[in-house]
Amino acid sequence: MSISYWLDQTLASSAATPKNYDIVVVGGGIAGLSTAYWLQRHDPHLKIAVLEKNLVGSGASGRNAGFVTCGSTEHFIKLQDQFGLEKATEIWKFSEDNRKLLLEHVIQDSADAVDFRPTGSCTVAPSAAHWEKYQAIGAVMRTQGLDVQEVGPQDLERDYGVTGFDGGIQYAGDGYVHPIKLLQHLRGKLDIAIFENTEVFSISEKSGKQTVRTDQGVFVAEKLILTLNAYLPLVLKEFTKIITPGRGQILVTEPLPEFVKGPCYLTKHLCYFRQLPTGHLLIGGFRNLSVEKENTYADETTPLIQDALFSFVKNHFRYGKEAKISYQWSGIMGFSPDGQMLLGALPNNTNIHIMAGCSGHGMGLSFNAARTLVRGLFGEAIPSHLDIRRFKF
Ligand SMILES: Cc1cc2nc3c(=O)[nH]c(=O)nc-3n(C[C@H](O)[C@H](O)[C@H](O)COP(=O)(O)OP(=O)(O)OC[C@H]3O[C@@H](n4cnc5c(N)ncnc54)[C@H](O)[C@@H]3O)c2cc1C
Repeated sequence: MSISYWLDQTLASSAATPKNYDIVVVGGGIAGLSTAYWLQRHDPHLKIAVLEKNLVGSGASGRNAGFVTCGSTEHFIKLQDQFGLEKATEIWKFSEDNRKLLLEHVIQDSADAVDFRPTGSCTVAPSAAHWEKYQAIGAVMRTQGLDVQEVGPQDLERDYGVTGFDGGIQYAGDGYVHPIKLLQHLRGKLDIAIFENTEVFSISEKSGKQTVRTDQGVFVAEKLILTLNAYLPLVLKEFTKIITPGRGQILVTEPLPEFVKGPCYLTKHLCYFRQLPTGHLLIGGFRNLSVEKENTYADETTPLIQDALFSFVKNHFRYGKEAKISYQWSGIMGFSPDGQMLLGALPNNTNIHIMAGCSGHGMGLSFNAARTLVRGLFGEAIPSHLDIRRFKF
């Protein structure tokens, strides 16, 4: 993000009347609203503003598949390889807590209002070798108290409508949601100022206060929290080598008879699918077909990936042959080098706090991560795998 001399001069003239807050949160996605929620809960007297360059949910938070999950079986395998079994389980349980906290604090008794369904999820094995591996890891996950069970090919076809696979691992704890309805519901619980169509150009410190320059004037705050995920490097250049943008694409068909029980992962293709309560079949993924081109900030769909998604629908789903496309869209995710989020204060300015790098799992992480970030802001330790200080700037 850059700003012209002409615009900057206009901003300078409005700097005489800055808007003052205790805490300014930049980014109006699930991370920003969740952070505002926990701040407000920590101290209802805090004067908080959220600044969003478009509308709340314009970023990945309003463009995702709505999986509120801990991840796939394959994800657990990767976590175990990377961190060992104990930490992998801790990371999985962090997402379990995310879902529980969302239910307790946001969804409460309004599951229908946000289309929340506690369906569980399934990771489909793409080959006999994967199926064998998944069964072994399923047994390990059970030893950790995780509620997983095997699904044979017939049950896979009956419950998830897919053909041509050896089996899958079902995890009971997961579910899905309508992402924008969830954000709106969360927003309804906030008694704070939300400035939409307000783009942050730069931040600086003056006399110990954080000054935020936007196209709608200047905001001044004691503390600043940047919940920009993929967009963080565009505001703070030092994150360019740490956060990588990655585009995700989704296709939704016209409504089909009900046949997919809950969210499914098919990780070989980096592909995922579920059916909406309206019968629309949603499928996303296939980033692996064009990884370099998909590492972009450009919000557009491509024939290569959309054709692959539609072809998968046609070839692998019950009712797929008669499916027609209803929606196609894209969104930008923010990936961190180790796949884990970054939480905490900047080493060179402890009045600026960061939450970023959801690495494609923000719906399954952000509400709990926001609570962790706010607790960190008020002195509690942040788990090592999420602590921003694991990276050098
Ligand atoms: C296609 C797709 C499918 C996905 N599916 C799932 C899923 O099913 N489950 C799951 O857990 N995760 C999923 N994800 C990932 C998930 O959507 C993200 O991890 C999550 O939404 C990140 O939330 P956030 O609030 O951190 O970021 P965002 O939602 O991107 O919010 C950042 C906000 O900052 C705003 N902004 C940017 N620059 C500025 C600026 N300069 N000034 C002011 N505002 C600014 C943006 O407009 C945006 O609204 C998916 C992502 C995509 C793209």
